[in-house]
Amino acid sequence: MKQDLFQAPDYYQLDDLLSEEHKLVRDAAREWVKRDVSPIIEDYAQKAEFPTSIISGLAEIGAFGPYIPEEYGGAGLDQISYGLIMQEIERGDSGVRSTASVQSSLVMYPIWKYGTEEQRKKYLPKLASGEWIGCFGLTEPDHGSNPGGMVTNYKDMGDHYLLNGAKMWISNAPFAQIAVVWAKNEEGRIHGLIVERGMEGFSTPETHGKWSLRASATGELIFDNVKVPKENLLPNKTGLGAPLGCLDSARYGIAWGAIGAAMDCYDTALRYAKERIQFGKPIGAFQLQQKKLAEMITEITKAQLLTWRLGVLRNEGKATSAQISMAKRNNVAMAKEICSEARQMLGGMGITGEYSIMRHMMNLESVITYEGTHDIHLLITGLDVTGLNAFK
Ligand SMILES: Cc1cc2nc3c(=O)[nH]c(=O)nc-3n(C[C@H](O)[C@H](O)[C@H](O)COP(=O)(O)OP(=O)(O)OC[C@H]3O[C@@H](n4cnc5c(N)ncnc54)[C@H](O)[C@@H]3O)c2cc1C
Repeated sequence: MKQDLFQAPDYYQLDDLLSEEHKLVRDAAREWVKRDVSPIIEDYAQKAEFPTSIISGLAEIGAFGPYIPEEYGGAGLDQISYGLIMQEIERGDSGVRSTASVQSSLVMYPIWKYGTEEQRKKYLPKLASGEWIGCFGLTEPDHGSNPGGMVTNYKDMGDHYLLNGAKMWISNAPFAQIAVVWAKNEEGRIHGLIVERGMEGFSTPETHGKWSLRASATGELIFDNVKVPKENLLPNKTGLGAPLGCLDSARYGIAWGAIGAAMDCYDTALRYAKERIQFGKPIGAFQLQQKKLAEMITEITKAQLLTWRLGVLRNEGKATSAQISMAKRNNVAMAKEICSEARQMLGGMGITGEYSIMRHMMNLESVITYEGTHDIHLLITGLDVTGLNAFK
C-alpha cells in the first residue's frame, strides 16, 4: 500500500454546513484511518483477516456507539457526527466500517432502545470500549430478504428459554462475545435475545472463501438447545419492527460510508490521471477521462447533499425508513459505479493492491447486498410512493 495521500473532495463547500464539533470528530477519524488503517488494511484483506489490533482505535474515535449516551459509555454525538465517522472509516475499508456499524447500530442500539436498564449497564460500556465485540443474527439460510419468515425459535422452559435454529452471513460472528439474535416465541412473535459466547450449544463457524469484505470476519450462528437466561430477552420491542429499527440506524451509516469509498476512488483516480503520461500528456488531459472524473464528482456531491439532509432529518427525529432506504440504495450504487470507472482509469495498476480501488469495488458487492439488497430498496421506495406492495 502506498502512502495515504487522500484529500477529501468538497465541491459544494459542504463543510460550511458542519459545526465545529462535526469537523473535529470527522478530522480525528480521518487522521486515525490514515495512520492506523490505510497502512495495514490491504495486507489484512489479502489474508482475509480482520485486524483486531484496530479495535481500541475504533473505540477511541467514537465509532462504537457514536450516538449512544455517554452515561452508557457512548460518545453522545449527533447523527451527522455518526455519519461522518462512518464515512471516514469506509474511506479506509467497508469491512472495518461493517464492524463498527454492527457494533453500534445492530448490537448497542437494540440493547439501548429495547433492553432493560440492567442490560444497558451490563453490556453497553464494554461494547463502547471495544472490550466486547457483538454481532447481529437476523439472516437465516432460507430467509434473507424475507426475515419475517425466520424459523429460529425459543421455548419458555420456566426458568430459562431454549433456543434452536441457525443464522448465516453474520458479520463479526467468529470472534464476537455476544450476539443479538432474533427468534420467534411459541406464538410466532419475533423477539431479540442476547446470547453469550460460552453458552452450551452455541457455536459460530467462520465463512471462508469470500471475495468481498475480506477484512471483515463473517460466520454462522448455530443454536442447538441453547439455554438462554430469561434476563437476556430484550423486552421493550417485539415483532419484525424491532430488528428493522436497528437496520434503519445501520443503513443510515452505510449511506455515509459509501460516500467514503467513492471519495477514496475518485481522489485516487484524479491523482493518477494527473500523473500518468500516455501519448505524451497526462491521461487526465483526455476528454474521455475528464468525463469520468466530472461525473464522479457530480455524483459524490449529490450524495453528500442527500445524506447531509437526511442527517438533519434524523437529528430532528423526522427521517422515515423509506428516506433512509433511498439514501442507502442511491449512495451504494453510486459508489459501486465510481469504483468501477476509477479502476478503469488506472489501467492495469487498478487491479493491484497497490491502490485501494479494487478492494473497495469488491467490498461494495457485499454492501449493495446486505442491509437490504438494491432491489429490495427499490421496492421500499416503490411501496412508499404508490402505496402498493410489490414484495409478494
Ligand atoms: C458479507 C456479508 C455480511 C452480512 N452481515 C450480516 C449480519 O451481520 N447480520 C445479518 O443478519 N445478515 C447479514 N448479511 C446478510 C444479508 O443481509 C443478506 O445477504 C441479504 O439480506 C440478502 O439475503 P440473501 O443473501 O438470502 O438473498 P435473497 O433474499 O435470496 O435474494 C436473492 C436475490 O433475489 C432478490 N429478491 C428477493 N426477494 C425479492 C422480491 N420480493 N422482489 C424482487 N427481488 C427479490 C434480491 O434482491 C436478490 O437479488 C450479510 C451478508 C453479507 C454478504
